[in-house]
Parts: sequence; C-alpha cells; structure tokens
Amino acid sequence: MKSSCDILKRLDFSANESWEVIREKNSWLSFIPETTKDDQGVIYLKGSSKKVVYKYLSEENKYICVDCNNEINVQKVGHPIWDGVFDCSGYGNVHYEDVPYCSNCEKTPSSSGTPIQI
Ligand SMILES: [Zn+2]
Repeated sequence: MKSSCDILKRLDFSANESWEVIREKNSWLSFIPETTKDDQGVIYLKGSSKKVVYKYLSEENKYICVDCNNEINVQKVGHPIWDGVFDCSGYGNVHYEDVPYCSNCEKTPSSSGTPIQI
C-alpha cells in the first residue's frame, strides 16, 4: 500500500496560482490546498506545509487518507474578525474556514483560528 511518504517522493504538489495570491493576502488561513495527479489520473490533496496526503475517490466524491484509508473529516475553524475601533477588538464577527484532516494521523485542528485584522 502506498503511503504519504511514497507519494511525496514521487509526485510534486503545488498550490495553484489563485491560491498563491489568496495565501499572500490572507496569512491567517489554516489550510492552503496543494494538489497533484498521478499517471492514473488519481487526484491527491494535501495542506501546504503538511505531510499527510489525501486521495480523492471520484466515484464516492470524498477524500481518504492514503496512510490509513480513513475518510477525511472537516473541522470548522473560526477566525475572529478584528474590525473594531481599537486594536485586537471587533464586533463579534467570525469567518469560518473548513479545514480537512485525518482523525487517525493528524491532530484535530483548533476550532479557534488566527484572528483576521482588518
Ligand atoms: Zn490517516
């Protein structure tokens, strides 16, 4: 069975250009997707700076972990928006980001994300 390690050695992951722009403007983001395809056309996804690789099952329209075959979970991460008059204050608005993770191989992402300074 293939592992994340084999896939990382064999295939190059890259964030697409629009994500590069989004990453530059939004340093608070928890998850920047990077994708690649193997010679069979199978799509793999991982988070930028993360080591665990997810494989896309097109028939089932879901991602599984290549290390343990577990279905990938999604954690909602709330980023408080600091749009108040004072530093580090806001009107209670929160931006939610969906962060995928494998519940066997990765820690559950914290549900409180980096604040967004406006
Ligand atoms: Zn896993």
